[in-house]
Amino acid sequence: MIPIIKPVMDQAEADAAARVILSGWITQGPEVAAFEKEFASFMGAEHAVAVSNCTTGLHLALLGAGVEAGDEVVTVSHSYIATANVVRYCGAEPVFVDVDPATFNMDPALIEAAITARTKAILLVHQMGMPADLSAIVGIARKHGLKVIEDAACAAGSEINWQGEWEKVGRVRGDAAVFSFHPRKIMSTGDGGMITTPHDDWAAKFRLLRQHGMSVPDTVRHKANTVIFETHPVLGYNYRMTDIQAAVGREQLKRLPAITARRREIAEAYKAQLASAQWIGLPEEPTWARSNWQSFSVQIPDDCDQRDVMQKMLDAGVSTRRGIMCAHREAVYNQMPLRAPLPHSEFAQDNRIILPLYPQMTDDDISEVVDALKVATKASFVGS
Ligand SMILES: *Cc1c(COP(=O)(O)O)cnc(C)c1O
Repeated sequence: MIPIIKPVMDQAEADAAARVILSGWITQGPEVAAFEKEFASFMGAEHAVAVSNCTTGLHLALLGAGVEAGDEVVTVSHSYIATANVVRYCGAEPVFVDVDPATFNMDPALIEAAITARTKAILLVHQMGMPADLSAIVGIARKHGLKVIEDAACAAGSEINWQGEWEKVGRVRGDAAVFSFHPRKIMSTGDGGMITTPHDDWAAKFRLLRQHGMSVPDTVRHKANTVIFETHPVLGYNYRMTDIQAAVGREQLKRLPAITARRREIAEAYKAQLASAQWIGLPEEPTWARSNWQSFSVQIPDDCDQRDVMQKMLDAGVSTRRGIMCAHREAVYNQMPLRAPLPHSEFAQDNRIILPLYPQMTDDDISEVVDALKVATKASFVGS
């Protein structure tokens, strides 16, 4: 069976976890601090703040942007549902815009029509690891005095061309970017997340809010030789990362360049081997983007049934996923009137499938996926 993804972990991660377990300091301690420093330096960010997962990180990022009850946040429906949910956590409403059918990322041309007097921020997604058109979106946001938050859940290791220079997603040209370390993403700590930001005051706020709004962190009390009483000046949360996770994350970060390079090789192999199957629509990389291909999605022909193609591939030993979901079709959001139709978002959910892609794949695995896809979609083309 070829799975959709496999984490890249070995004895190095196991040893890192064991080292923490035997050390006497288990959560939000020295390993978290070291992971944050190394992550910030890798991404080229001023600050990195570790959190319990990407969803909690996005919640904090929106609080950093000052999003409150009654506000609106312009975002996409075509994303994992957490993107929309975090807006609701703030008591605000997501306003969905459609995606560009070439990249499945927020279409900058549709943003201005979605902005109202209540809009506080734009929450863009680097969907499936493909960088969004960040410079266009930041330009629009600044013109309207809005903050920009990047949902970079899938985008660790992806690169973006900013004014002629390649830099990492997470360098942050808006206000904050948030990464996920769930096993379905590029590097994993089991669960986990990281916020990067250029703003000193935002980073300080994230550190306060992730630990119950407590004025004095554990690390400071632990080292103090006078008694310190902590206070809780604001409503905080428990969004901490453990040192066990952070130690694993530090090992994963060392692997990230090799993981990304291998993923890009496999994506190229898919493109080459599927080029002759003209009935399959291949994903494209815009000139400003170098994707980590967290998900490699293809478009199946109109007369193919998505579930049927996926079942045939599963029967052939190849696991797939359907196109990225649309939040506006779920019960949590489907009572909300849409401000604009979302045809490209819906089409991508219904007519694309995501193929397995992980660094351990062999050439045989890649060919097996390609063959299974061709067989599962070709029936309707026989004789045409
Ligand atoms: C996975 C994902 C999330 C949620 O990440 P968690 O770490 O599981 O909270 C949010 N947004 C997008 C786009 C994702 O793919």
